[in-house]
Amino acid sequence: MILTILLTLLNIQTDFKGFPDRETAEYYSSILGCEGSFSVIKDGENFFLPCKNQDELDDFIQEREVEPKVTEIWDPEPEVVTPGNSFRDAPSDAIILFDGTNLDNWMHKNGDPAKWDLGDGFFTVKPGTGDILSREVFGSCQLHVEFRSPLKIEGDGQDRGNSGVYFMENYEVGDTGYEVQVLDSYDNRTYSNGQAGSVYKQHSPLVNASKKPGEWQTYDIIFKAPIFNENGGLESPAYITVFHNGVLIQNNSQIQGYVKYIGYPEYKAHASKLPIKLQDHSNLVSFRNIWIRRL
Ligand code: MG
Repeated sequence: MILTILLTLLNIQTDFKGFPDRETAEYYSSILGCEGSFSVIKDGENFFLPCKNQDELDDFIQEREVEPKVTEIWDPEPEVVTPGNSFRDAPSDAIILFDGTNLDNWMHKNGDPAKWDLGDGFFTVKPGTGDILSREVFGSCQLHVEFRSPLKIEGDGQDRGNSGVYFMENYEVGDTGYEVQVLDSYDNRTYSNGQAGSVYKQHSPLVNASKKPGEWQTYDIIFKAPIFNENGGLESPAYITVFHNGVLIQNNSQIQGYVKYIGYPEYKAHASKLPIKLQDHSNLVSFRNIWIRRL
């Protein structure tokens, strides 16, 4: 916990200059596993940081960051809310990404037709075939997608009904989209910022509106694309609002960067329109009724 606080200060709080006294810096040295402290002058003031010098501090931080656990947030656990029953039909201006009959609008990253299994009005992840991408590309958008966790419960935590809806997947680089987690979070505890409806490893959902495995669920997502300047710098981050089974679970959450399992999120400049991605996480998650509106 204390280590997480330190890593958050150093990596995320961009206005963090250091500790005002040597004692605190050395306390954090003991948490990190290095020795001593060093002083830095910022804005004419003296601050102290853990370890002997900046290089050593960077090395120790990197070492600690390879632990995936560092970015897991467990508390608070989102409260459980029981959603209503209705689903949503596409409006007249929507682009239909899946109408129940074929996977023509989807492909694997090498351009091959999507090999996932087509059922009666839905399709299911075919483990090992890889993620699928929308053939059309999108920036800011409103997306409706329905998913179903496998009725047969297998695994727990992150290994139960895991998939994901990614916005702006930069597939030439690989795994750089912004993920809304798909997971069977019905009576299945995991870290809060990794459960269903989380912005994976960034924002926990406000509540847990999950339905039971085997029941169809909806995500209605409003995604605002990030904006980069000509030099590749971030001008405006991405924002996301998510309704899970009609319940607001992300309220204009600011996305901190593309999804990372290990380490802190960061932005990397990319095109203004990129595919939507659905994740093959080896679990038999099904999808249906996918439509999208450009914003
Ligand atoms: Mg996932």
